[in-house]
Amino acid sequence: MSTIRFAALQETLNRKPVSITEKERRSVLFGQNVFNKHAMQQYLTRAAYDSVINAIEKGTRIDRKIADQVAVSMKDWAISKGATHYTHWFQPLTGATAEKHDAFFESINGGLAMEKFDGKQLVQQEPDASSFPNGGIRNTFEARGYTAWDPTSPAFIYETTLCIPTIFVSYTGEALDNKTPLLRALQAIDTHATAVCKYFDKNASKVNATLGWEQEYFLIDDALANSRPDLILTGRTLLGHIPAKGQQLDDHYFGTIPARAMSFMQDLEQECMLLGIPVKTRHNEVAPNQFELAPIFEEANLAVDHNSLLMDVMEKVSKRHHFKVLFHEKPFAEINGSGKHNNWSLSTPDGTNLLSPGKTPMKNLQFLTFFINTIKAVYENEELLRASIASASNDHRLGANEAPPAIISVFIGSQLSNVLNELENVTKGKLSPEEKTDLKLNIIGKIPEILLDNTDRNRTSAFAFTGNKFEFRAVGSSANSAIPMTVLNTIVAKQLKEFKIEVDALIDDKNLKKDEAIFNILREYIKDSKNIRFEGDGYGDAWEKEAKKRGLSNNKTTPEALQVKTAKKTVALFEEMEVLNKVELEARYEIDIEQYTKRLQIESRVLGDIARNHVVPTAIIYQNTLLENTKNLKEIFGDEFKKIAKEQIELIMIISNHITEINALTLKMIEERRNAKGLKGLKSAQAYSKKVKPYFAQIRLHCDKLETMVDDNLWPLTKYRELLFTR
Ligand code: ADP
Ligand code: MG
Repeated sequence: MSTIRFAALQETLNRKPVSITEKERRSVLFGQNVFNKHAMQQYLTRAAYDSVINAIEKGTRIDRKIADQVAVSMKDWAISKGATHYTHWFQPLTGATAEKHDAFFESINGGLAMEKFDGKQLVQQEPDASSFPNGGIRNTFEARGYTAWDPTSPAFIYETTLCIPTIFVSYTGEALDNKTPLLRALQAIDTHATAVCKYFDKNASKVNATLGWEQEYFLIDDALANSRPDLILTGRTLLGHIPAKGQQLDDHYFGTIPARAMSFMQDLEQECMLLGIPVKTRHNEVAPNQFELAPIFEEANLAVDHNSLLMDVMEKVSKRHHFKVLFHEKPFAEINGSGKHNNWSLSTPDGTNLLSPGKTPMKNLQFLTFFINTIKAVYENEELLRASIASASNDHRLGANEAPPAIISVFIGSQLSNVLNELENVTKGKLSPEEKTDLKLNIIGKIPEILLDNTDRNRTSAFAFTGNKFEFRAVGSSANSAIPMTVLNTIVAKQLKEFKIEVDALIDDKNLKKDEAIFNILREYIKDSKNIRFEGDGYGDAWEKEAKKRGLSNNKTTPEALQVKTAKKTVALFEEMEVLNKVELEARYEIDIEQYTKRLQIESRVLGDIARNHVVPTAIIYQNTLLENTKNLKEIFGDEFKKIAKEQIELIMIISNHITEINALTLKMIEERRNAKGLKGLKSAQAYSKKVKPYFAQIRLHCDKLETMVDDNLWPLTKYRELLFTR
């Protein structure tokens, strides 16, 4: 009998939900472990408080004396909450988060000790960062890197550590992390969106990008997960026969949350409250044991930090409930994968949503301006947007008829499509008073009504307008949202910059009124960007053909998708917007390619190991049982055994055939892996993608067939039905 599998099943069946009590009302818990405005007011001097708030709101610098004050207060606050250590918390290019804890404790003369934390320690640290990927940046320049305080994201306490969100850059200033380019992109969108806002409000002073992510994940009992080497080493199952019951009855979606999962969620949500992560929604997702959690949206940098932090907290909390959280985009074949929809919009400091129409025609024209510019930006940069979500794991999900295809298109619904169609007919140049009135009353004026009952939903679109925000649906569940958010904000910033130049030119050179000039440019943008708009079924083959005709990219694999990341046009765009320079872009490209290659290499090794060391030996044991049985039948029944043992003999031969195939295919895969390993960079990634990966499905097919034949008692790998349905 397969002891690990059955012991794991026994353990799982004996589990009880961990009892969780609500400690306090959520609103009371909220932000208790965050050095937020409230805590700062209590602990900081007036001057220090103003300085930090100015840094957050206006991006001003905090001088060293003030930083010393902030550090001392932060330490006092943290110690009062039971913290013993502090860490600079950052997001290196591995996509995860990193921290290195230092104690506040310091020894002083005379065998005494004290707690110490000063401005220097708050503002800048030099972690030994030599093991973080840097894509060659630190080889060509200084070998060192440092972390620097990001005051726009508040410090927080997790367990007994004060965590200070920081950027991570090389000594020569190149970004070694995902936060730095995001902050630069948010700066760019602020600058160019504010400039455009001034057409509509002379006093406009700032624009924030907002992000509301929706995190999908699976919860699998940890004993069961630990019994699967593929899940542990690669985050997904590399083999496993599809269970008789999967998700075909749609009985999990929005159903009652299973008791153990519910305890986990309550526990997690309370942790989130303490950390100031405004989680709001929880529900079952489509697949068995798949769930989703969504917060109230926030300023994009904070929202990204909160998502990264959440993923860490989920892993920690899940252990208390004997779960393993799977963030992989496709942990199970034939079962829906997980995404992380990124809901994005722009807002002013008073909370006005720029992708929401307003009460006056001018406000509605403002809405149209940002709406159409976003569509145009996506059209001009669709391939780059696709690249921003490329990873080995997301490749399994995109285009798998459960997630958007690898083609980026924009869905806006039929009513807004009608509005844009009407606007295409706006007269070139000056508008007559009649036309202006007509536009105001019948087209622009109707937008608020239209959006009120904007019930159009298209789940198959990669980038959909959902009433007052765009939803980027192709983002993978394991992704760091900083990467797609950096790209999206950069391309929209660039687009708004162009828009301003073109509108100003019409006003200055052609003597058009402001609104006339805006209508004229928007009309052209609508025409130019038509090819990115698609209202139909994004899952069908017909769309692939249509998209090709329209000239849209369809990069199905990560190595193909990544190419645009270092294209001339991309470098020019990112340098102009001061988000990433050529060196930083090339470094990221190199790291992405390397991550892809390594992940496929690991998957290939694990699959080879499981197939030959777990599956084949098990099949042989079972085959021996059959042989033994056949031999015995022959002994008793003589020649008649051929008829009696017909099934057994057939099975023996089929099993032999699968074993032969598994061994042959695995050897070929190893051979291709050797070749791929000998290549460099892109060539190696392509070889893994085109030559090694195709063996995965072939080897899996034979293993999965064996799973249906071999005695269940012998099968060593916990089965899909057990992973997905044991509660
Ligand atoms: P669904 O997309 O599942 O129908 P909702 O439309 O309720 O769900 O919203 C999903 C997410 O959109 C939530 O995380 C929410 O915070 C976010 N969201 C709502 N408004 C905005 C906005 N203006 N900017 C960014 N995100 C937003
Ligand atoms: Mg959604």
